[in-house]
Amino acid sequence: MLVLNPYKILNRALQSMRGENSAVRILITEDDRALAEALCFALGQAGYAVDHVSNGADADEALKADVFGLLILDLGLPKLDGLEVLKRMRRRNTVLPVLILSGREQSEEKVAGLDLGADDYLVKPFSLNELLARVRALLRRGRGVVAPVVTYGSLSYDTVGRTAAVEGRALPLSLHETGVLEVLLHRFGRVVSKEQLVEQLYSYDKEVSQNAIEVYVHRVRKKINGAGVTVRTLYGRGYLLDYAGR
Ligand code: CA
Repeated sequence: MLVLNPYKILNRALQSMRGENSAVRILITEDDRALAEALCFALGQAGYAVDHVSNGADADEALKADVFGLLILDLGLPKLDGLEVLKRMRRRNTVLPVLILSGREQSEEKVAGLDLGADDYLVKPFSLNELLARVRALLRRGRGVVAPVVTYGSLSYDTVGRTAAVEGRALPLSLHETGVLEVLLHRFGRVVSKEQLVEQLYSYDKEVSQNAIEVYVHRVRKKINGAGVTVRTLYGRGYLLDYAGR
């Protein structure tokens, strides 16, 4: 049962981004209860933070929180099938490695899954050791393997190289500005509070004031001017990266 506590989740995700001995958070979407339990146990033992949902609708909801480092996705799921979960996730530009679990009879869906950007698949039944090996391999390849470049308007962002460009021209961004843009892009169209930005930039140095955040946001806004996207300020709530002129 997944209980979404946004603050706890954010903190945990940020901890793992800082590499603070914190586990990668893995979402397991599997309706076979025995298999799900075995997966939770094996991955937990291996040191990962594990969440489990047993239907596609819950997976879709959980993935919106955008805190997972890897998704293990069964294809045959109640409420919303695995491929639909994958489609919706990719539509939100969520970038994370996906390991598909499929039954023998689902080879066509498996191919469709790979077309939709799944990174690997396992055919049931499989050994837990095999699963752990695949998970390690996917995490080694890192985030952003599937769609390393995120594009909105003429602004593109390379999630691996951590560089931004407008119409293909590199944007000169400081480390802090890059951090701000990254968070805003990751939550495109959704509000990001100043506190969340402070938390994010904490990974670069310990003291980032809310005033400093305003400065970084201001600079990012100026630098991406003309790219068809803009950073809006929602007073008292935070910031939102959105298409310009909306
Ligand atoms: Ca199933």
